[in-house]
Amino acid sequence: MSWIPSILLRPRPGLLIALGSSALGGAAYGFSKPNSRSDTSLNPHSFTPYTLVDKQPVSSTSAIFTLRNRYGGPDPDSVKEGWKRSIWSVQVKQPQLQIARAYTPLPPPSFMPREDNEGPEDIRLLIREEEGGEVSTYLHRLPEQSTVELRGPNTECELPHNIKEVIFLAGGTGIAPAMQIAQAMARRTDSRMHILWANRRREECIGGTNDGGEITNAIVQGRLDWWKNILGLGQPATEQTLVESHTTQGKGVLVQELDVLKEKSKAHTKGLSVQYFVDEEKKFIQPGDVARRLHIGEPEAKGSKVILVSGPDGFIEHWAGKKHWEGGREVQGSLGGVLGQMDLNGWSVFKL
Ligand SMILES: Cc1cc2nc3c(=O)[nH]c(=O)nc-3n(C[C@H](O)[C@H](O)[C@H](O)COP(=O)(O)OP(=O)(O)OC[C@H]3O[C@@H](n4cnc5c(N)ncnc54)[C@H](O)[C@@H]3O)c2cc1C
Repeated sequence: MSWIPSILLRPRPGLLIALGSSALGGAAYGFSKPNSRSDTSLNPHSFTPYTLVDKQPVSSTSAIFTLRNRYGGPDPDSVKEGWKRSIWSVQVKQPQLQIARAYTPLPPPSFMPREDNEGPEDIRLLIREEEGGEVSTYLHRLPEQSTVELRGPNTECELPHNIKEVIFLAGGTGIAPAMQIAQAMARRTDSRMHILWANRRREECIGGTNDGGEITNAIVQGRLDWWKNILGLGQPATEQTLVESHTTQGKGVLVQELDVLKEKSKAHTKGLSVQYFVDEEKKFIQPGDVARRLHIGEPEAKGSKVILVSGPDGFIEHWAGKKHWEGGREVQGSLGGVLGQMDLNGWSVFKL
């Protein structure tokens, strides 16, 4: 799922054609049916109206959008199944331009998607506002209670049942698919998962504590702020307010959700660990960070361990080499990048 925009063209009114969407593991959208049916449930053929009920800032450029099915139509089985073993996305429409982009739903806050048929689960999307980006800018400007139209689900990749260990290299909003997989792995007895999450700026993951007892950046920041105040060099009020409004008890919203995921994972699995890397702090994921995790745990049956790489194109290329286009579909291409030069000890690699 390289973050290549899926662009919808409009050959004639009412007929949208999706181009450039990731089509791995059975992503099943291509040609859409005319949007004449008023579907009440999320479906891959036509857009279903949702209401934007909440927009929770994560940082100065990203927010979690909570969308509620306007008609309360039940979630399709594909969504319920998707939560168990897939990375999946939905398309969001920009109605004025008749274009759409893919976004990856975050797990429900309870991390236990509904099994009953009582009604649809709210869909939560982590959306970064791209400078000059057509759809993300449009969405960030929408006030609460606006209508947002969704189509899907689209399966990006399925995690086979025998996968027991996952190393997930996530860049920026690539944390959304990592969280999908983390909640699916939390149900797999004796599984283990490591997330290595890289961000350009600390504001995306304030208070993220590296497992293994590293000092938290929240504490470091707290001490720096204290000294700055003593020396009269405090942050300007607006910047201070921004940081405060994005955190609770010194932790960003995604860091808190990852903490909850870690707790939930303890029940049945060998654990979920999360490591935070921040460019502006000169902390980058190193090959050694991956290599160390390749050898944790017992030797498992071949094919039970996978490294997933998700994020901006440059991030995927750096770690695993370029994906390619073949016959209008995006395919894995050969393994390159840093992982291509490492002894992976039987782990397979999948580029998202
Ligand atoms: C399967 C999948 C899942 C995804 N999940 C998420 C997710 O969970 N969260 C998320 O935030 N994103 C996600 N994305 C990315 C998302 O789909 C969009 O690509 C992203 O939001 C940018 O779309 P946009 O319309 O705002 O920007 P676009 O209009 O597509 O522009 C993107 C960037 O290119 C620049 N640009 C556009 N046109 C030109 C040009 N002619 N010349 C030079 N520069 C140009 C823009 O300024 C902008 O910076 C996902 C993508 C895929 C394929």
